[in-house]
Amino acid sequence: MGKGMYEVTVRKTFSAAHTVTIDGTREPLHGHNFAVEITLSSRELDDEGLVIDFRKIKRWLEEILREFDHTYLNELARFKNITPTAERLARCIHDHMETRMKSTQCTIERVTVWESESSRATYSGTA
Ligand SMILES: [Zn+2]
Repeated sequence: MGKGMYEVTVRKTFSAAHTVTIDGTREPLHGHNFAVEITLSSRELDDEGLVIDFRKIKRWLEEILREFDHTYLNELARFKNITPTAERLARCIHDHMETRMKSTQCTIERVTVWESESSRATYSGTA
């Protein structure tokens, strides 16, 4: 008991446009400079004293975000029939990252997608 845990967080940005339907009303098309933060945790460090190499997570996150960067999100196949909200982007990024986590000792604690300085959505997987 009382065993601590390490967390590492990386942040990357991408730019995309979307339109969200709220209360049956489709808001106008607009863009965001989205910021994505992913936090990984581990109870142990590897032989080099790391939870995971930051460069590795950044590379993976970059690969995942490539699908969204400079797109109109509503036109992507995955958002054909559902609205591309920040919440759904967070879930999608989480799930993509999860498959890559299998080769590591890390757990994804949460993925946060910022639409603006004052608005963010977070998805936490169940451990
Ligand atoms: Zn928006």
